[in-house]
Amino acid sequence: MKWLLLLLILLAGVWWLRQTGRTGRSGGTSRRKPPAAAESSTRPMTQCLQCGLHLPSEDSVQGRQGDYCSPAHRQQHEG
Ligand SMILES: [Zn+2]
Repeated sequence: MKWLLLLLILLAGVWWLRQTGRTGRSGGTSRRKPPAAAESSTRPMTQCLQCGLHLPSEDSVQGRQGDYCSPAHRQQHEG
């Protein structure tokens, strides 16, 4: 019977840790969102000259006439 009591205490401890960990995690997830939003707002956006797609300029393909979403579109637009 002693082991059952120990198991219950252990389970209670695990449950308690989960409860406290969850609040910390929810704070982590809510903390995770703003940086992503801030990142997208601070990131300079550019537009593909071929298809008009908006994308972060750092992800864009630089062409002679401007930015493109992919090398294929750069080739299509610039020949
Ligand atoms: Zn494109």
